[in-house]
Amino acid sequence: MKYVIALDAGTTSVRAYLYDVEGGVFVHGAQQEVGQSFPRPGWVEQDAGEIWFKAMYCLNNCVRYAGAENIVGIGVANQRETVVMWDRTTGEPICPAIVWQCRRTSEFCENLPGEMKQEIARRTGLLPDAYFSASKIKWNFDNLEEPTRILRAGNLCIGTVDSYLIFRLTGKFATDYTNASRTMLFNIHSLAWDEELLHFFSVPKAALPEALPSDACFGYADLGGKKVPVAGVAGDQQAALVGQAALGAGEAKATYGTGLFLLFNTGEACVSSAGGLLTTVGYAAGGKVHYALEGSVFNAGSSVQWLRDGVGLITTASESEQLARSVEDTGGVYFVPAFTGLGAPHWRADARALLSGVTRGTTRAHIVRAVLESIAYSAKEIADCMQRESGVTLKELRCDGGACANDFLMQFQADVLGVPASRPRERESTALGAAYLCCLALGLMGEKDLATKREAEKRFLPSEDRARFQSLYAGYEQAVARALYPKS
Ligand code: ADP
Repeated sequence: MKYVIALDAGTTSVRAYLYDVEGGVFVHGAQQEVGQSFPRPGWVEQDAGEIWFKAMYCLNNCVRYAGAENIVGIGVANQRETVVMWDRTTGEPICPAIVWQCRRTSEFCENLPGEMKQEIARRTGLLPDAYFSASKIKWNFDNLEEPTRILRAGNLCIGTVDSYLIFRLTGKFATDYTNASRTMLFNIHSLAWDEELLHFFSVPKAALPEALPSDACFGYADLGGKKVPVAGVAGDQQAALVGQAALGAGEAKATYGTGLFLLFNTGEACVSSAGGLLTTVGYAAGGKVHYALEGSVFNAGSSVQWLRDGVGLITTASESEQLARSVEDTGGVYFVPAFTGLGAPHWRADARALLSGVTRGTTRAHIVRAVLESIAYSAKEIADCMQRESGVTLKELRCDGGACANDFLMQFQADVLGVPASRPRERESTALGAAYLCCLALGLMGEKDLATKREAEKRFLPSEDRARFQSLYAGYEQAVARALYPKS
């Protein structure tokens, strides 16, 4: 038997899956929740030591199951942008990890000079925001003593979660292009740390990892005496793109989790967006770099959680499907999921969620349906923008993530987009992507094989009644306009 382990270090949990290379399926998995702390409103921190400890626990569980002798490689996928600082001599974190959701540097980013904002966008493909790593790193240097002290001793390592795990597993200090492309310090055209941005954010290059393609070998881990290559690394959304085998230009995936992340493969063309999308490295393998346009919606599945925990309209997330189906439409009710502002393509941090069109006849079923529909409309907003900007027509949307279990949502998604929404048999696309990248890196699979791997479990075909869904979407656009007005 030959297995690779896909290590998926997400925000809320760390998972390790054992992937059978010949059979092409997952055979075993282990999962551990990871804590988060919120020391002030809008601040989010994690303990990278805990992430490492739990990753080891999950890895060891898989090793015990399969036997170290049968494991040929470890692939890594991870929450992106989160900043870890550690001491090279001990491997121990020297301060809390600042998590991607943390807003402590919002004001700094908003007040960046206009010219600098343009330069950042041009060089990194990102819209300057506290979401990305650069301002978080600067915050640590400006507010803590340890980073400068350890830097002076020549022992400081700064990285994202992937590079921390790689370091602990192998002793090598490296990251991959997809993760580097989310730091706001990496030039996505030259594929190198950008000297001017490093200077601007006062980040010492010597403390940054070496950036390598996603299908590189990142070093060797010791699994019970056996040296196993850590090969195949990508940020979680990019790993899902690979896991969905969306490898050609014009192919796209949408992950419906807490948030909704759409990645649209633009091939080797690095398309820059004027409409609020991010340009990012999709994956780098086989000596080529594939770029992607990304649209991030901060609240998707979290709106369903709000229905359950916030207003108590449902008791389980899956109940939303049956309730939505119990009415023919929302009766003119629209929901705009702007709990923490609106992300792509609007980027309005001040917007808040809105329920519109409510009448005396509105029932909880209408509201629940409006919430599910809002998830599909958010994806449509981004998909339209992506098609406009890339000039490529979307043929199908490959869906994954927790909320894609909802058949009503998937059908409505296809209807509103006017193209099929396809759900894969293997829904853990992120881990699968890490496993595929590992197989590519080790030569166990070629990119061509990968394209044939994906199997649809269900393909939701769009309704023929385009006019109906266009008019429904026009109503959503009006509701968004209301949520965006006035600007505070
Ligand atoms: P994450 O990786 O962001 O934690 P998951 O991919 O595990 O998210 O998906 C969990 C999200 O999906 C939750 O926000 C939950 O409300 C939503 N969800 C799960 N099942 C359903 C369902 N049947 N219908 C609608 N939403 C669902």
